Amino acid sequence: MGRRPLATGGNRRRGLSEDTHKPATRLVEVGRRKQWTRVEGQPGGVVNPPVWRSSTHLYDSTADLAQGRPNADGHFYYGRRGGPTQWALAEALTALEPGADGTELFPSGVAAISCTLMALLRPGDELLFADNAYEPTRTAALGLLKRFDISARAFDPLDVDGFAQAIGPATKLVMLENPGSLTMEVCDIPALTAIAREKGVLSVIDNTWASPLGFPALERGCDVSVMSLTKHVGGHSDLMMGSASAKQPLIERIRNHAQFLGQVVSPDDAALALRGLRTMGVRLEQSTKSALAVADWLQSRSEVASVLCPMLPGAPGYDIWQRDFSGGCGLFSFTLRDADVRARARFLDSLELFGIGFSWGGYESLAIPVDPARVRDFNAWPSDADAGSGLGVRLSIGLEDPGDLIRDLTRAFAAMET
Ligand SMILES: *Cc1c(COP(=O)(O)O)cnc(C)c1O
Repeated sequence: MGRRPLATGGNRRRGLSEDTHKPATRLVEVGRRKQWTRVEGQPGGVVNPPVWRSSTHLYDSTADLAQGRPNADGHFYYGRRGGPTQWALAEALTALEPGADGTELFPSGVAAISCTLMALLRPGDELLFADNAYEPTRTAALGLLKRFDISARAFDPLDVDGFAQAIGPATKLVMLENPGSLTMEVCDIPALTAIAREKGVLSVIDNTWASPLGFPALERGCDVSVMSLTKHVGGHSDLMMGSASAKQPLIERIRNHAQFLGQVVSPDDAALALRGLRTMGVRLEQSTKSALAVADWLQSRSEVASVLCPMLPGAPGYDIWQRDFSGGCGLFSFTLRDADVRARARFLDSLELFGIGFSWGGYESLAIPVDPARVRDFNAWPSDADAGSGLGVRLSIGLEDPGDLIRDLTRAFAAMET
């Protein structure tokens, strides 16, 4: 598989290969090289790679300066190339993404998406993006890239044959997302990426929802896996960051482009992301369980037309989800049967445990109104689902007790009716 050797945990005594360890164990081990957690001359070391806050690396001599190696992993050069704290996070993410040779960090998920697209496309190229993509991805495709003479078109991610036909001579890259933002439809990534590969088209996926713990994107045929670390990896709503993981030589192209654009991540933020990463597995497991309980309960409510949660047996997308995913998260949507905009606002404003706000994947639950039809070229609501009033709500289920969340939602439905 060309898997890069994993980092050696600072406290390991036995010579077990980390490749045999389960994800829960790997989350604890990754990125903790001894050279980053120990001080020369001291016995033992610290658990976490410290925050190395630095712009300048001092060399011992001009001869050493001349030996500086800007692209070599694990060698100080200058702050823009990062230091041990950022390298530890990047190495950890690479180790968690089966098939990846490296990871580039970005100051946000949007930066990771825009920079990856710019790195891999040239003037005259065409980008196809899934109609269910995150809205700023669409904006970057149709706005930013257009200024560089890169054209972009949406395609229906549920129509595999249509995708094959949409690929033209100038198509160089397809931007995927699974499940889709807001509408949560699940597409057949192995089928889409097989077609793309056969036609010489690169596949980039926004893998924020599942993370590699739930969807090993490169193993499923994608060439680049992008994540907003702001969501599950940060996990505490206090951090913005993004990442792109890929095989060589793609990761090198992305890294070079990021350097051209001066993309940096602070060591303080990298340390926060590393801290979040250690508990990501248990947080995802818990929020998935709670989300399933809430989604299942919503299905029984007369106010709800359809629950757009592919993790839920029988829900749209469940079959492919079950085939391709090994885990989920707390984010899903539902549609209201016959509410109007004001009734929906009453519902949302009555919630006490759910904050009203963007982002998701934090420890606290959130709810927002969603009207995805407005930003879609195709009818993106799952075709077999009843869209009801067409008005939707997206929930990010956090770590609260699911029974308390259900009681809160019950109160809010009552307030919606009055
Ligand atoms: C939030 C989000 C992003 C963007 O990440 P930021 O870190 O907020 O820039 C990208 N993709 C998806 C699916 C998201 O939900």
